[in-house]
Amino acid sequence: MALFGKPKYSAIKVKKVQIPTGRWMKCTNCRETVDAKAFETAFKTCPRCKFHYRMTAWEWIGLLLDKDSFVEMDRDMLPTDPLGFTDFRKYTDRQREATQKTKLNEAIVTGMGNVTGHCVGLGAMDFSYIGGSMGSVVGEKVTRLTERCLDERCVLIIVTSSGGARMMESTYSLMQMAKTSGALAKFHQAGLFYLALLTNPTTGGVTASFASLGDVIIAEPGALIGFAGPRVIEQTIRQELPQGFQRSEFLLDHGMIDMILPRKEIPAKVQELVTFFSE
Ligand SMILES: [Zn+2]
Repeated sequence: MALFGKPKYSAIKVKKVQIPTGRWMKCTNCRETVDAKAFETAFKTCPRCKFHYRMTAWEWIGLLLDKDSFVEMDRDMLPTDPLGFTDFRKYTDRQREATQKTKLNEAIVTGMGNVTGHCVGLGAMDFSYIGGSMGSVVGEKVTRLTERCLDERCVLIIVTSSGGARMMESTYSLMQMAKTSGALAKFHQAGLFYLALLTNPTTGGVTASFASLGDVIIAEPGALIGFAGPRVIEQTIRQELPQGFQRSEFLLDHGMIDMILPRKEIPAKVQELVTFFSE
């Protein structure tokens, strides 16, 4: 006889709860688990904390323009490597990787389309292509788009999302600020309407050129908009920066932008403005 009897366990049957894959997602901002479908139908904004996630260039085109009206311009304009630049990696390798990842040839998609039947030139930047940085190609595409809108007397809309000028092209990148601003000055003199739509983040040379030159400037809530980063400014002026510095709400209070709109209200406002300013 065994001193201790063999304990008897019966298997506890656990009913498996089937969670459909892709049904839930974790918001990186509020850390709550949220309904992925509600997130998508709210155009990539968190249904709980309303944090606005980045959209791709093509998602912006789909959101703002009349269905199937977009005709892309300069799709095959490819970046070069004028300085033979290498940091941790070759610039040409970065370009190739960015294209593989995003299926884009550069950090902006430009073209002509319609908003409520009115002619519009739209440029949409994509942060996932080398941080939405502005090199020669981004500057050239913005300039050509502006000139086309000037010739055809159309409204111009640019959605910005950028880490600034592309350091791998050095001065060639910085020159794009002057070039895009020059084209926009002519556009402005012709009395045409340019709408700048600033998303998170819009910084550096893009803020210092076409992002700040809109006749109307709309920003998304909580978007980081500025030139140099807050840490650099703090170290330079040796002062603590105010709460909410460089966020769209702060910029609205200080007269740098015209309005802040949640993403779901942007298409209707764009339609209203385009209709009002179209000839
Ligand atoms: Zn959230």
